[in-house]
Amino acid sequence: MRQFWKILKRYVAPYGKYLWGSVAMNMLSAIFNIFSFSLIIPMLNILFRINDTDYMYMPMDQAQGMMEKIDALANNANWMISCFIEQHGASMTLLLLCAFLSVTTLIKTACYFGAAAVMVPIRTGVVKDLRMQLYDKILGLPLGYFSQERKGDLIARMSGDVNEVEFSIISVLEMLIKNPILIVCYFSVLLFISWELTLFTILVVPLLGWFMGVIGKTLKRSSLEAQELWSDTMSQVEETLGGLRVIKAFIAEGTMSRRFDRVTGDLRRKTGRVSTRQALAHPMSEFLGTVLIAIVLWFGGTLIISDNAPLSASTFIYYMVILYSILNPIKDFSKAGYSIPKGMASMERIDKILNAENPITDKAGAVDAEGFSDSICFENVDFSYDPSKPVLKGIDLKIEKGRSVAIVGESGAGKSTLVDLIPRFYDVTGGRISLDGKDLRDLTMKSIRGLIGYVNQEPILFNDTIFNNIAFGTKGATMEQVVAAAKIANAHEFIMEKEEGYMTNIGDRGMKLSGGQRQRLSIARAILKNPPILILDEATASLDTESERLVQEALDRLMSSRTTIAIAHRLSTIKNSDEIIVMQEGRIVERGRHDELVNKNGYYKKLEDMQSL
Ligand code: ADP
Repeated sequence: MRQFWKILKRYVAPYGKYLWGSVAMNMLSAIFNIFSFSLIIPMLNILFRINDTDYMYMPMDQAQGMMEKIDALANNANWMISCFIEQHGASMTLLLLCAFLSVTTLIKTACYFGAAAVMVPIRTGVVKDLRMQLYDKILGLPLGYFSQERKGDLIARMSGDVNEVEFSIISVLEMLIKNPILIVCYFSVLLFISWELTLFTILVVPLLGWFMGVIGKTLKRSSLEAQELWSDTMSQVEETLGGLRVIKAFIAEGTMSRRFDRVTGDLRRKTGRVSTRQALAHPMSEFLGTVLIAIVLWFGGTLIISDNAPLSASTFIYYMVILYSILNPIKDFSKAGYSIPKGMASMERIDKILNAENPITDKAGAVDAEGFSDSICFENVDFSYDPSKPVLKGIDLKIEKGRSVAIVGESGAGKSTLVDLIPRFYDVTGGRISLDGKDLRDLTMKSIRGLIGYVNQEPILFNDTIFNNIAFGTKGATMEQVVAAAKIANAHEFIMEKEEGYMTNIGDRGMKLSGGQRQRLSIARAILKNPPILILDEATASLDTESERLVQEALDRLMSSRTTIAIAHRLSTIKNSDEIIVMQEGRIVERGRHDELVNKNGYYKKLEDMQSL
């Protein structure tokens, strides 16, 4: 519970003013509820022709103290009713009472609505804040985080767990605001009508609470497990959507379906258990509530039948109605008792992301890199994703401004890892990388990344217009600038063939374009950004010859007068590089210009021979 206070403080505090509205509305609805039910007494009196007392008008100012005043008020109401019956008859009086009941009930329900409506901005606000925090956290976390936490899991936390927290926070707010108000109001009425009966009632109530507590306890563990299985389910869906092409090509639908069946089966069992427990709660509390009513009915009935009854039969029925009304808020208390643990379980999972440590941040006193004027230096750099498996070992490399360096080597040699270190997607585990002599870790990430343009093997595009995809990352780019960049990137022509030109939406991840077109868009993006340093990660590897020619042309234009680090698959594309680095198992094994390396007759020559085959 203490933890929950913290969560409330964290997320509900900004919406504090709505809470007061809720308090006011709930007070009003409770008061009108009590009032409207009290009309039952005269109605019953009329129906059962109980009218043995002759009411006399009692002047209100003679009554002393609260109790007497209320007594006088009730007496005078009865007096008015008896006068009315004498003048207009019982039926007319009944009609009047019914009309009165309708009006007070209308006001009461309006207050109910008000109380619920006031909760809406809190609920929606809390959910939005949580999602926003999660999203910003995801944007801020380093790439390394996402190889461990699967994407589907993140999506599950963003959807399912946030909803869970929403329900749980709302039920807690209701528990803390609405129910105590109702309970206090109703309870005062009960006490006022008959303290003897109420004393007796109190003795029976704790039984109810105890039982509900037992059910709630086991629920948290089960729902945590259920949420984890939900994550697994979402992960598989995510994976499947990304890999549909391969699944179909390998006719693996059956395997995938069985795999999915297994995880949904588990999920079903787990949520089944949670739901059964929840389903049990309502009938059980209903039953216990009725038992309570029955016991009180017996006890109170005995009192009334006795000779000197402390209260009239109609008042007793009013008492029972209020007693029945008080059961609901009490039940809600217990409901909150199990939605809190459920919400806490989800909050824990959300907090795991929100509190994830971000090892790659700007250190205190980091300065901005002021342009790029000399060189990037790798000095005896080691790197590993997990400590037991070094990926880069003792890398020494100097990339001077204006020169092009190509990196070749078999798959898994560590080429992508090496270039990922330059924009600080990861930090080195040994040695250092410097930019113009300054350690990357002493510079702000924003300023380093601002110097770098990136063209990937798999161009990363967003479900947006062509214009926005090119202008992505360049603030305030104009149409002229975008068009100029597209022209250099050999993209202008195909863009103009699209119906809406630069305003064409390219679909999810650019699905509506061919591979070469996508690549040219991402080159246009890099051209527009106009960075001094360019990283090309096998930018033409996945293209056919014609697309490759168009893309290579675009790349050549982009690379001229820039410092380029290119990972190359086809050696033909890097013949003119100023330096070629040959990597094998995380080390640089050969380096030099194309001709030198061929003459050396080493590993590079072997690679070249294999490709010319
Ligand atoms: P290349 O680009 O030369 O094909 P990579 O740099 O992608 O090679 O990978 C080098 C090694 O690091 C490989 O053994 C690969 O399995 C491992 N590796 C790559 N990325 C990760 C990662 N995110 N987490 C753990 N290991 C990784």
